[in-house]
Amino acid sequence: MSVSGLCQVCESRPAEEQCQNCGALVCTVHYNETKGLCTDCFAQADPSRQSDDVDITRL
Ligand SMILES: [Zn+2]
Ligand SMILES: [Zn+2]
Repeated sequence: MSVSGLCQVCESRPAEEQCQNCGALVCTVHYNETKGLCTDCFAQADPSRQSDDVDITRL
C-alpha cells in the first residue's frame, strides 16, 4: 500500500497510481500505464480521442 485514498476520477476504487501530469491519484481503471497519465489528462493530450466535448478552438 504505497498510495492511500480513493481514485479522484471515480471515487469508488482505491487509488493505486499517480498521474505524472496533474498528480491525481487514480485507480488502475482510470490510469493509462503507457503514458503515465490519468484518463482526464490522457484525453486532453491525445488529439485522436473519441470524445469531442472539449473545444480546443477556443485556445
Ligand atoms: Zn477510478
Ligand atoms: Zn492527470
